Amino acid sequence: PSLTTRLYSEEDPVVILTSATVKQTLVNSSTAWLVQFYSSWCGHCIQYSPTWKALAGDVKDWEHAIRIGVLDCAQENNFDICKEFGIHFYPTFRYFKARGPTFDVGKTYRGADRELQTVRQVMVNFLQNHTREDWPVSCPPLEPYSSADILPLIGQKSNQYTAVIVENEDSYVGREVILDLMMYQGLTVKRALSSERSLTEKLGINSFPSAYLLHPNGTHAILHVQKRLRFFFSSFLKLLLGVHRKLSTSGAPQEPLLEGPRGPGTAEALKDFENGYVWVRTCILCVSPCLIQGPITDFKSFVILADLFPGRQSVVKLLETLLEWLVSLPLEKIPFDAILDLVNNKMRISGMFLSDQLQWVGCQGSRVGLRGYPCSLWTLFHVLTVQAASRPDALANTGLEENPKAVLQTMRKYIVNFFGCQECGKHFEEMAVASLPQVKSVDQAVLWLWRKHNQVNGRLAGTMSEDPHFPKTQWPSPDLCPICHEEQDGIHVWNEDKVLMFLKQHYGAANISPKHMY
Ligand code: FAD
Repeated sequence: PSLTTRLYSEEDPVVILTSATVKQTLVNSSTAWLVQFYSSWCGHCIQYSPTWKALAGDVKDWEHAIRIGVLDCAQENNFDICKEFGIHFYPTFRYFKARGPTFDVGKTYRGADRELQTVRQVMVNFLQNHTREDWPVSCPPLEPYSSADILPLIGQKSNQYTAVIVENEDSYVGREVILDLMMYQGLTVKRALSSERSLTEKLGINSFPSAYLLHPNGTHAILHVQKRLRFFFSSFLKLLLGVHRKLSTSGAPQEPLLEGPRGPGTAEALKDFENGYVWVRTCILCVSPCLIQGPITDFKSFVILADLFPGRQSVVKLLETLLEWLVSLPLEKIPFDAILDLVNNKMRISGMFLSDQLQWVGCQGSRVGLRGYPCSLWTLFHVLTVQAASRPDALANTGLEENPKAVLQTMRKYIVNFFGCQECGKHFEEMAVASLPQVKSVDQAVLWLWRKHNQVNGRLAGTMSEDPHFPKTQWPSPDLCPICHEEQDGIHVWNEDKVLMFLKQHYGAANISPKHMY
């Protein structure tokens, strides 16, 4: 791979522009643009690339208003175009207004401060520099509303929520939350200034920023968040019942939503724990396609992890028997019917029944085809990494006891060979190659899986596999774990020590109700 592909890749949330695409992309674009013209050999550019990627990730939800691009001037076929843009220094940051009718070289950002928060705020200012004529088509209004605009809405019924962020004049929180929510339907976010006395008095707000929520049924109340920060407001609003991310691709007609619990990672998710079921199901129902793909040894190591499983003894026993049987098989591949017979026999003896129709509980989707098996598989592996960290002796005499990555390596093999979703396997493998070697302890293994799961959530947000009732957010959301979230220099950061504590508690054996443990 060239240096360019190493500095920015298709996996990053930036748009990679080239001489072939840059003009047609920027001219008459429906969105504004912020483009970094860089050179892949320039040290500053290399050092700055993580910040640029973080910025692009931070404002990904703004992409229908303003987008982040990169163009590598060190690439031979980009020499001429960089000359045409008059790029002399690297990196050069240029803004391009939306709906520019003809080619224009953009406006250079000359500020010395290139910190993420500053650039983000400059992006907001730049958006506000648009006129009514060239305003980006999908960008919501960013100007503050007056008391006279807002007061009449109070107590009115509506077909959606309205959130009003009341803030001081120099605050960017309101505009950032408006842009964070622009891809969501079922809610409008407006901002008003703290100087609007009649409004603040009517709403009873005296510290800023604060958010006030008008519900569709006409009721209204101040929005209570643990920390009055952009991330907390935005997360809260995204998780409101009836607020959904607009699908980024229009797909097949959707089946009607089933009645179901709401919200990602509510206590529900683990209370009804069907992972034992999934395990058994994995062994029986999914083994048939697995046989075509995966080596028997990889399947065995998956079953070995049963020693970590905090479920009913009967499941553990069943899995152990299965393992003994697998080990005794002189075969490369496992006959599906044989495995089915074995499990059914064992289950009959132990009084367990596995119905044909799998009823998901914690992983019940709001529509057929959503959540279910992959949801439970994630949960299962989170439980296993937490168990490995909490019960160091559990894998004694399995050959895995000294290996802090035992669960993750098994998961990796399982996902690649048996999961059935090739794309998922490919992505997971890429993540594993890139960062699994850095995992040195069982605690780091717990955090690695959490981080990678969030990476997948970020990639899938707004796609067809997102259940509108269970939006793909960065998890755990602030309502689940407020202390997991912090802000440094205006940027959301995780407190990983607190996340680890939370994961150990959330996925710990004590939090798993035996009611649904098969
Ligand atoms: P899930 O993402 O399945 O999560 C289940 C539960 O885990 C959530 O409800 C929440 O309570 C909790 N949770 C959420 N995030 C975290 C976290 N960071 N740490 C700990 N717990 C968390 N689908 C695709 O379309 N494309 C893919 O490339 C793809 N790759 C996948 C790779 C793997 C390894 C797996 C297991 C699944 C993959 N899937 C992929 C499926 C996808 O990730 C979801 O599992 C599926 O869309 C169901 O989503 P869900 O809303 O039920 O939540």
